[in-house]
Amino acid sequence: DAVDFDSLEYLEEDEAFAPAPKLPVVAVVGRPNVGKSTLVNRIIGRREAVVEDVPGVTRDRVSYIASWNGRNFTVVDTGGWLPDSRGLAAAIAEQAQLAVELADVVLFVVDATVGITDVDEAVVEILRRAKKPVVLAANKVDDQKAELEAAALWGLGIGEPMPVSALHGRTSGDLLDRILEAMPEEAPRETIGEAPGGPRRVALMGRPNVGKSSLLNKLAGEKRAVVDSVAGTTRDPIDEMIELGGKTWRFIDTAGIRKRHKENQGADFYAILRTQSALERAEVAVILVDASDPLAEQDIRIVNNVIEAGRAVVLAYNKWDLVDEERRFYLDREIERQLVLARWAPRVNISAKTGRHMEKLVPAIETALESWGHRVPTGKLNQFFTDLVSSHPHPIRGGKQPRVLFATQAATRPPRFVLFTSGFLEPGYRRFIERRIREEFGFEGSPISVTMKIRE
Ligand code: GDP
Ligand code: GDP
Repeated sequence: DAVDFDSLEYLEEDEAFAPAPKLPVVAVVGRPNVGKSTLVNRIIGRREAVVEDVPGVTRDRVSYIASWNGRNFTVVDTGGWLPDSRGLAAAIAEQAQLAVELADVVLFVVDATVGITDVDEAVVEILRRAKKPVVLAANKVDDQKAELEAAALWGLGIGEPMPVSALHGRTSGDLLDRILEAMPEEAPRETIGEAPGGPRRVALMGRPNVGKSSLLNKLAGEKRAVVDSVAGTTRDPIDEMIELGGKTWRFIDTAGIRKRHKENQGADFYAILRTQSALERAEVAVILVDASDPLAEQDIRIVNNVIEAGRAVVLAYNKWDLVDEERRFYLDREIERQLVLARWAPRVNISAKTGRHMEKLVPAIETALESWGHRVPTGKLNQFFTDLVSSHPHPIRGGKQPRVLFATQAATRPPRFVLFTSGFLEPGYRRFIERRIREEFGFEGSPISVTMKIRE
């Protein structure tokens, strides 16, 4: 066997599903104009920061990767909202709530020259309840004189105010030291690579009004088996345990689904952050589509995001009670044309309103999860490739015929195949291989990736 298994370390280079790095998250909260953005710029060093795009309607830039003393972490600037009709107090309460849900450390910024306001007090209430580590930045302490003003912020009752001047960079090193001290040693957030244990994690995804909260209510309510609302834990304050098909499932970010304000949906900043965070923690996404409505750009984007994140997928066509013969005809064509990227996903036609086919949801989720964690033994895989290469060899190009020499499944969750080849395989041939792998081994409901390593 001539294959050098050390070559597997090349995997990093072309990971098809580069999962978002599981870095500790620092969320920045505070009233408008206290200097949050200025401080974030200071923390990320005003370089062109590596910026994560988050899935959602827009590709807003909301989180940045920063590093200090050799440690990397993600900074989320939660200041992306505009005070609207709900008023400042309500908006900031939402901002703070979200920050504590997402963050490992909350950086609370107060304007020392203004002092403690009612809104600051309200934020403190929320931070206290969440029991997440909080670092208090007393900003705009531009000179010695302002130090006294900073000291007045002890009055908030959440520990020592760290005097900083985001504008002039004063003592921001001390602030960063403090943030690192407050950070957990290892990022505590669950990663998808983790061995399964405890309830499987399901996220309900879909654009506004497709019926996510209706489905959640149906699932939790109908079976009368809401086991527990997981509240107040530092890890997952927002999930719900629901018993279905004799098993307990963890539904991710049900708080976000239940309480989302109708007028606040869509391209909403928080919706984007929540979607990102829910997807990161989920193993499988049930993507809801409104079957009564033409497929939208946004539906496809959501499907894309889930696949890119490497999560298992179930497609749920909701509002089936509204689908008639004619609509059905067009729907089949839409799916054929526009959802080819997820043609391997199990599909259930449900109605959260009437309860139609609710019982089909769990088997579909189980199928997808099983595929997601499935591993094809190397011997079996290579027998498959031997047969494939002899029955369907790669076309000859420039007098050469690249061959698959050896194949191995290098990872699961999601499955990742590595082919060692004697030359470059054309994309068309690689797609053919992927299709044949699915035909042979299934993988219904899971994205898979096929990468090649050319051996000269
Ligand atoms: P945000 O709304 O909390 O993100 O606040 P910004 O970062 O946009 O800052 C609001 C205003 O405060 C801007 O005019 C900043 O230049 C100013 N500012 C921010 N930090 C400081 C500081 O440390 N000292 C002073 N004097 N002004 C600051
Ligand atoms: P969300 O924004 O995705 O959480 O969607 P909602 O659960 O709030 O549902 C949006 C609207 O669609 C509400 O008026 C629901 O009553 C309605 N709806 C949800 N599921 C169904 C369904 O299966 N059939 C019908 N006819 N209406 C539904």
